[in-house]
Amino acid sequence: MNIDYKALAQKYGTPLYIYDFDYITNRYMALKEAFSGHKSLINYAVKANSNLSVIAHLAKMGAGADCVSIGEVRRALDAGVDRYKIIFSGVGKRDDEIRAALEYDILLLNLESEAEMKRVEMVARELGKEARISIRVNPNIDPQTHPYISTGLHENKFGVEIDMAKRMYIYAKKSQYLNPVGIHFHIGSQLTNLDPIKESCGIVADLVRSLKAIDIDIKFFDVGGGIGVVYDNEKTISPTEYTQAVFEMTKGLDVTLLCEPGRYMVANAGAFFTKVLYEKQNGSKRFVVIDGAMNDLIRPSLYNAYHRIEAVGVTGEKTPADVVGPVCESGDFLGKNVLLPPLRHDDLLIVHSAGAYGFTMASNYNTRPKSAEVALEGGKDRLIRARETYEDQVRLELAYLHQDA
Ligand SMILES: *Cc1c(COP(=O)(O)O)cnc(C)c1O
Repeated sequence: MNIDYKALAQKYGTPLYIYDFDYITNRYMALKEAFSGHKSLINYAVKANSNLSVIAHLAKMGAGADCVSIGEVRRALDAGVDRYKIIFSGVGKRDDEIRAALEYDILLLNLESEAEMKRVEMVARELGKEARISIRVNPNIDPQTHPYISTGLHENKFGVEIDMAKRMYIYAKKSQYLNPVGIHFHIGSQLTNLDPIKESCGIVADLVRSLKAIDIDIKFFDVGGGIGVVYDNEKTISPTEYTQAVFEMTKGLDVTLLCEPGRYMVANAGAFFTKVLYEKQNGSKRFVVIDGAMNDLIRPSLYNAYHRIEAVGVTGEKTPADVVGPVCESGDFLGKNVLLPPLRHDDLLIVHSAGAYGFTMASNYNTRPKSAEVALEGGKDRLIRARETYEDQVRLELAYLHQDA
């Protein structure tokens, strides 16, 4: 696509998130295609990018949603995801969230501990409902990714061990208020190696076989999310490699295959636009100060994540610079030692691969308003979230200002 970046920055202002919806379409279709011939459901992991228009775009193509809070469940419903395609995961669900999920009658509550199962049973009993559940198994496999985004080892807080899972299924099967119909694992994010996925899949498939033997019929086999994407020059797993591995490991099981891609779907659909404020030099160190910051895109600060940064339409000899924001933290940077030409006030920088875990992790630190978000589709651009104002930020505080104790 021929995108006039400068015109978009001019029209909507910076800092700004832009998402290419046609790219999201292609990603979704490629994965759906790779599942063809098998019963499957793609549950988009809403936490990667939870803008209502992004979810709606995926819902229109038939996607379900993987949610980790009742707020995300509500976003999915508001965006038009069918309730029977919504899964609610997460290690710490409150009673009111469990109650709401049961009332919405979504596809599955994905359980992450025995204690949580008991809570879900209790709430279901109060409502006189039967809760459809799946259990998140922790297969104790090293996903070979960044430790902060690894989730499938016993040392991580997620899921339960195989033996515990089995005990929970047996309990749930006997309960009048629980209906164990699914199984789930998710070993980490930004996975670029197929082996740990295959191995986990095999372990969980074996558990499904042993459950079937005792008359516990698992209908939904959820392989989680985590398919890696290219940020720099990573070699990634293709949709067909991925699904072929899943088919191989689940052979003979009569299940609907679920998967929960987040990053795969949206990371490279998105870019973060920011303008140069100043250049400065501290000794031999060159800094480019921009109008975007860690509160807009925290991945570099949080995970030391790499995002390619490009100066639009600027020429000249490139030298290394740290690209830093106005936030009062030394950790406030979007790139280190980035090769950039000499820059001037108002030059536009594009931070690539920012569609996943970008805006959703944004905060108001330093009372900075959250960026606007824009969709590109069929050669047209449209606003999908207005830029936040100062008034938006203080709205919930003003009523309490100058009150006596
Ligand atoms: C975060 C998460 C996902 C999505 O992970 P990606 O790496 O973005 O694909 C899927 N499932 C669960 C349970 C998650 O916590």
